[in-house]
Amino acid sequence: MNYENLANTYGTPLYIYNFDEVKLRYLELKESFYARKSLICYAVKANSNLSLLKYLANLGAGFDCVSYNEVKKALLAGALKYKIIFSGVGKKDSEIKSALKDDILMINIESFAELNRVEAIAKELNIEARISIRVNPNIDPKTHPYISTGLNENKFGVSIDEAKRMYIKAKNSKFLNPIGIHFHIGSQLSDIKPIHEAASIVAKLMKELKTLEIDIKFFDIGGGIGVRYKDEKEINLYEYAQGILAALKGQDVTIVCEIGRFLVSKAGELLTKVLYEKINNNKRFVIVDSAMNDLLRPSLYDAYHKIVALNGNDELFNCDIVGPVCESGDFLGKNRELPNLKSGDLLVVKNVGAYGFSMSSNYNSRLRAAEIAIINNKIKLIRKRETFEDLIANEVDLLGEE
Ligand SMILES: *Cc1c(COP(=O)(O)O)cnc(C)c1O
Repeated sequence: MNYENLANTYGTPLYIYNFDEVKLRYLELKESFYARKSLICYAVKANSNLSLLKYLANLGAGFDCVSYNEVKKALLAGALKYKIIFSGVGKKDSEIKSALKDDILMINIESFAELNRVEAIAKELNIEARISIRVNPNIDPKTHPYISTGLNENKFGVSIDEAKRMYIKAKNSKFLNPIGIHFHIGSQLSDIKPIHEAASIVAKLMKELKTLEIDIKFFDIGGGIGVRYKDEKEINLYEYAQGILAALKGQDVTIVCEIGRFLVSKAGELLTKVLYEKINNNKRFVIVDSAMNDLLRPSLYDAYHKIVALNGNDELFNCDIVGPVCESGDFLGKNRELPNLKSGDLLVVKNVGAYGFSMSSNYNSRLRAAEIAIINNKIKLIRKRETFEDLIANEVDLLGEE
């Protein structure tokens, strides 16, 4: 790939996604559940570019959405309504209503209060809402605490006992149809054991529900398959799938997974340009034109992303790679070895296809980056760089007549 040309044509910072790579990951995942009914739902929040959603919809993917706007984006991108799931711990009435009207596959419910709301809204619409309940199996996924979701201390899901009460209520309601069961214990998991333990606990609950004549059809195992940013252990997909099947012990259900990071992370790169170098008290800083508003993960999670220099000689020196934002937490990498660089040289930040652009902001009134896709070696612009006009478009009044 000629990064110089890309930088000249599209400017920097620039997100570059290799869609062919996304396809490989999708097929790999789909095949790991071969011979079983499975639905791979892409977790839209990882990267919600419409062209990416359309590409995944064309491959047959479903979508896991955590706001109604994500449902709308999935539908706009051509997703089939019976492959869309609506999750999230705090849905508004208007969001629930719209999702029910759209007749999507199911709504993942995260509290008794939400179950009651969904029932009331379904009654108002005089329809039967298909639902799934998110069970919190109280399993430690051994990941970063900000992305751990399956412990009692987390806000997500309900306990096994509460879930039972909710399923019984749903079964007895004319307006609720409990078709799924769901868990998601965290993100960036490198150990499959916690997922399998969670699957066993939830599969056991599913079996109990069957004796109560509550017949679950969708076993939703959440997402969270980790990727290698630095030296993390990677999950073997075959073992991952086999462990889930073992936990099910032959119960006949469609396996649903909600995968974000694994599908798109490695396919993404952030191309950025060096502005200056400076040395403060022997500490070398490489200042680039991307910042925490473009890629928040290093600042938010102290996440590691590999950074590669495209120019410079072989001699490497220690440095921090930082952005122009007025925060000490604004860095892309710390204590890295890079050659001497000059203004205009290019760096590539790796593995940013997931939770990169989708977490970006306009902080410091910076304009959000452009995004391009590579499909069959062809380059497509899939999002224009923001302009100053975009930045101020929603601001009104300017205090009017005082
Ligand atoms: C974020 C999220 C996912 C996707 O997580 P990844 O780590 O990106 O695979 C799946 N399900 C739910 C409910 C989520 O909140």
